[in-house]
Amino acid sequence: MEKIGITTTIPVEVIYAAGCIPVDLNNIFITAENPAALVEEAELAGYPRNICAWIKGIYTTVLANREIRRVIAVTQGDCSNTHALMETLHIQGIEIIPFAFPYDRDYDMLKLQIEKLMQVFGVDWEQVAEQKKRLDKVREKVWLLDEKTWRENSVSGFNNHLYQVMCSDFNGNPELFAQEVKAVLEKSTPLPAGDEIRLGYIGVPPIMTDLYEYLEKKGARVVFNEVQRQFTMPFATSDLVEQYRLYTYPYNIFWRLQDIAAEIEKRNLHGIIHYAQSFCYRHIQDLIIRKELKVPVLTLEGDRPVRLDARTKMRIDAFLDILR
Ligand code: SF4
Repeated sequence: MEKIGITTTIPVEVIYAAGCIPVDLNNIFITAENPAALVEEAELAGYPRNICAWIKGIYTTVLANREIRRVIAVTQGDCSNTHALMETLHIQGIEIIPFAFPYDRDYDMLKLQIEKLMQVFGVDWEQVAEQKKRLDKVREKVWLLDEKTWRENSVSGFNNHLYQVMCSDFNGNPELFAQEVKAVLEKSTPLPAGDEIRLGYIGVPPIMTDLYEYLEKKGARVVFNEVQRQFTMPFATSDLVEQYRLYTYPYNIFWRLQDIAAEIEKRNLHGIIHYAQSFCYRHIQDLIIRKELKVPVLTLEGDRPVRLDARTKMRIDAFLDILR
């Protein structure tokens, strides 16, 4: 079965309908044995120092996995660096398939984009709908895992992050992935409500490797992972186009903020960690986030896939002290 690289969440139902395997390049980059070396390799190839490490990691990851010959590039709604990333992959012989989330969440435009993708993969709506049903069964298990995180404290913030983020591609095998989630659910034991600080994490997934671990060591718990949760498509709709219209990440910040504000309320969060990747245009949105959210916000910046540095740890400690 052909492996198709993806740089972010896209209507993955189309890839599964074609009998192909989606591979979220972010996930294989960050779980590689030495992700920092992959970033350096891209710099040696000529990528500038002041470009996001995720982009550089994805570039090297594609070249290191020669079985990936086609990559779906989200040209609108994800990353301002995607065009150049795809051009550098194109000259290395990788076929690029463009996909765009319309900025204004226009239903017809989104439907057209999905249909163009379906055309590339030679599938029809019936086949895609079948895959939606298949994947929704897996997603339901992950929704339960999320609920257990914030209602019962029985799933750690890291596991909440991990299993939700993997819903971008279901690890290439939805049924096997569902079994893994089931095992986590079976092991989860509700904990009595303690005096832990309840945090929300918003922004792209962290590049630092030990953020959740450090927060838990310091008596805080992440019970809301915004973008990761969005990857699970937590929407009750049987309409695939509507599902990707309700998905907040690729659209404007105000659409995301509505979701974040509702979850702050529902999950009784004491504060928010806004993660901004170095050299990412999304960093600019921090000023809107700080203005609009009604709970304290700590903005953290990360560059490379390494452990938290001393300065970041001190900033987290000070933030948690304020919340106590
Ligand atoms: S963190 Fe920002 S710059 Fe980096 S890949 Fe994601 S959207 Fe692009």
